[in-house]
Amino acid sequence: MKRILVTGGAGFIGSFLCERLLAENNEIICLDNFFTGSKKNIRHLLENRSFELVRHDVTQGILLEVDQIYHFACPASPVHYQYNPVKTIKTSVMGTINMLGLAKRVRARILLASTSEVYGDPKVHPQTEAYWGNVNPIGIRSCYDEGKRVAETLMMDYHRQNNVDIKIIRIFNTYGPRMALDDGRVVSNFIIQALRNEDITVYGEGNQSRSFCYVDDLVNGIISMMNREEFIGPVNLGNPNEFTILELAEKVIELTGSKSEIKYLPLPQDDPVQRQPDISLAREKLNWEPNVQLDEGLKKTIAYFDAALSDANR
Ligand code: NAD
Ligand code: UDP
Repeated sequence: MKRILVTGGAGFIGSFLCERLLAENNEIICLDNFFTGSKKNIRHLLENRSFELVRHDVTQGILLEVDQIYHFACPASPVHYQYNPVKTIKTSVMGTINMLGLAKRVRARILLASTSEVYGDPKVHPQTEAYWGNVNPIGIRSCYDEGKRVAETLMMDYHRQNNVDIKIIRIFNTYGPRMALDDGRVVSNFIIQALRNEDITVYGEGNQSRSFCYVDDLVNGIISMMNREEFIGPVNLGNPNEFTILELAEKVIELTGSKSEIKYLPLPQDDPVQRQPDISLAREKLNWEPNVQLDEGLKKTIAYFDAALSDANR
């Protein structure tokens, strides 16, 4: 049994992590400022005596005694991370410094949730961990992309300079239940629009691609990485099956039986053209690969949003 801190624990991925780590008989401290997360995501855990919820902003330091830190606090949807870009970069930079300081003091192992966005608009396809990326340092996505790149640098420097026990994962587009209704990322947007029979908002011509990973698969990979000795990463975690955004829209319409039509809107600035993880390293070092394919994951996510929308209308 370990005492584990999950920052961003009330968010989409963080809440699944808290749930799984509790089920494995650990003590969990879930820390969140509720910017994009919600108590609803972890309400079912509050009765558990091994679960503690702390409202706190990672840009401020905190004193805790823990064995492991899963550092997930950071808005992940472009809509939310661009809402207050200065705060986003502070969250990545100051938040990661604070968590690394804590890890150093109490000798905890710390895992950073980094992102495929460190590859920017990639010129190498699929993306391997060896690729340094193609990131615009002054665009509207930079607060997030560059913030995560600095967070990775901080992890490596605390490791080299102070011997902090670190792990870095680069997460590719992940979806599933508990994404917020107003999250704004593509899977939740399309599903909600389809369930409401509203227009499906495809940005650009919809020929940009993404590779979508179901959250349960991702959580398996995250926990394997945290507990893998002698490998610090970075390691890509994602599902290599790649789809265009138009294909995703058509799939969601088909699976929901919706009357929605596709509406084309302007492509946001710096929107990456293609993205697909090379997961050879995760296969080799973690013996991990995703099992849930898009249709199956979408069906589960659609069922969740169907119920969440009925609840919201009640
Ligand atoms: P999310 O927005 O649902 O979760 C982020 C959580 O962090 C929320 O609960 C939010 O309230 C909390 N948070 C934000 N700023 C904070 C701060 N300053 N102090 C404390 N808490 C704060 O997003 P998610 O999809 O669950 O993403 C979680 C992590 O995984 C993020 O670090 C994100 O960058 C990373 N990631 C996610 C994806 C994905 O596809 N979902 C891809 C790459 C990386
Ligand atoms: N996108 C879209 N319609 C939406 C939301 C997003 O066409 O309602 C597109 C967006 O332009 C991008 C892709 O879907 O090309 C994935 O967007 P998301 O915000 O989910 O994640 P990211 O761009 O960070 O991968």
